Amino acid sequence: MFPTAERLVYSPINYRLVLVVDALGASVFLLLGLWAPASWTARVAAAAAGFTAWGFLEYAIHRWVGHGPPSIARRGHAEHHSDDTALIAAPVFVVLIGAFAVWALLSLVVTIAVASLLVFGLYLGYNHYALLHHVLHHHETFTGRVGLQHLERIHHIHHAQQSVNFGVTSTLWDRLLGTFQPPTAASGSPGLPPSRNASVDRRGLGGGGQACQRRPGSPNLKELVKKYDVERRTRRTRRKNVSIFSLRVPRFLRCT
Ligand SMILES: [Zn+2]
Ligand SMILES: [Zn+2]
Repeated sequence: MFPTAERLVYSPINYRLVLVVDALGASVFLLLGLWAPASWTARVAAAAAGFTAWGFLEYAIHRWVGHGPPSIARRGHAEHHSDDTALIAAPVFVVLIGAFAVWALLSLVVTIAVASLLVFGLYLGYNHYALLHHVLHHHETFTGRVGLQHLERIHHIHHAQQSVNFGVTSTLWDRLLGTFQPPTAASGSPGLPPSRNASVDRRGLGGGGQACQRRPGSPNLKELVKKYDVERRTRRTRRKNVSIFSLRVPRFLRCT
């Protein structure tokens, strides 16, 4: 239905452009929020509220859009599950347009400064998610150096078992909504949540709506994670680590 938009989703140029556009987009809302009159308390509270609210949006979009009904987003996300080294992102300007729409609606009910900083907080959260997700998949050594292995393991469990761990930057909403699968369980306990296809689900049928059901004889998560790790290593030997802007990654940040 939207062939150009769909092509953009899989374009590495789009992937890189999105990171720049969204960083600039967040800066515009920050400047607008600082320019419009408001107390510093209101400014800080609005930005913090926006950043916190992103955590739920991240969970909801991943679970109910990425693993939801058929759509461009679900197909794109299914491709990410098929090949987690591919550079796949929403078409450039989609997030920016969405941010302006949210800002316009908020401006009807709160001041320009508060609306702008709420959207800045949301946008900052989104950029944090986008960068962290890239790092978790492409820069293993870096995640080790900065203490992100825990989040990396949790996200890799999601890739092995698509009905759990929808949060990337935080586990809060998975814990609250019953879809959290800790790494300790992935190292051996049987009878874990079911997966329709642990490693590759090109249609994006991730089973988000069936999270945490227990079925007798469901696959052992330990095996699924091991299988995902093997597939991942195989892909990585075929494709070198991807630096966001094709610059050489400094030696101390390079994956082994
Ligand atoms: Zn991922
Ligand atoms: Zn997913």
